[in-house]
Amino acid sequence: MKNRTDFGLNRRTFLSTSGLGLLGASMSGVLCNVPSKEESEQTANTFQKDGWKAIMESAKKYPKLDAHNHVWSGSNAAQVDESCEALGITKAACSIPGGKKVAEIRANNDIIIQAMKSHPKRIMGQCYINPLFKKEALDEIDRCVDNGMVMLGELYDAVKISDPMYYPIVERCIRHKIPLMLHGVTTLGNWRPGYLPTNPPNSSVPEDFVEIANRYPEAMIICGHIGGGGNWEYMCRILRKAPTLFLDTSGSVSDEGMIDMAVKYLGADRLLFATDMNYETGVGKIIWADLSEADRKKIFFENFNNLLRKAGNHAS
Ligand SMILES: [Zn+2]
Repeated sequence: MKNRTDFGLNRRTFLSTSGLGLLGASMSGVLCNVPSKEESEQTANTFQKDGWKAIMESAKKYPKLDAHNHVWSGSNAAQVDESCEALGITKAACSIPGGKKVAEIRANNDIIIQAMKSHPKRIMGQCYINPLFKKEALDEIDRCVDNGMVMLGELYDAVKISDPMYYPIVERCIRHKIPLMLHGVTTLGNWRPGYLPTNPPNSSVPEDFVEIANRYPEAMIICGHIGGGGNWEYMCRILRKAPTLFLDTSGSVSDEGMIDMAVKYLGADRLLFATDMNYETGVGKIIWADLSEADRKKIFFENFNNLLRKAGNHAS
């Protein structure tokens, strides 16, 4: 096992120093483990010369593929590119989730296609669809794949992923040999009676992912963001019931023990590094987790690359 202190940094050091104004495009929202004022001052003093460079170099030494990110406009693509460059993220799979009409969804996917063209070495496309549009959704998958997109994502909360409306969507992904990533929710009210639901009723909870994955074990289904805000322990306990499911590590939550528990319950082979625009915390939580070097490399790069390889979309 590679001890976390072998990196010459600790968790708080990485999270606090890597955010010293380096990444203007970052939209990090570290919800937990915020250093105290004294700790921040101490860290700043320690690293004010070039110590932070050593930290960034230790982060950059791992090639990374980001399985869950977003581009909101053409100009935003340049910021994604810059942020990925700063942290050694080789490529990022990006989407624009949402759109109430078919034309709106197509226009959003066209922005992603444009970002793929403007930053071909960095940005991979995720196709967003809404299963409620049935035939148009299937047609849009085909159109996006024809335009070089590598997967579906970030599918959202219009329909639960376990709903039969998703069956033809999943089957189309199996036919194209592409992964499918959907916004996962674990807020208490969405699965425990008596608590206030804070997400729409059709949001997909861990049980929904287990149900669809066990129906289609040959599909490459990814539950989005273990750190999306909610009960990640519950997520780990439930998702292990479907051995073919994958889980991405993104989200603004970077609680101590989160990645460690995911590895313990699901195994390192089923975790995919991702940021969901939380660049420094996204990298820091994998750097800091108590992982072997082999497992860290799997999570940062190899696992997602193996999924992309099925359709020939892998990074070299
Ligand atoms: Zn999400």
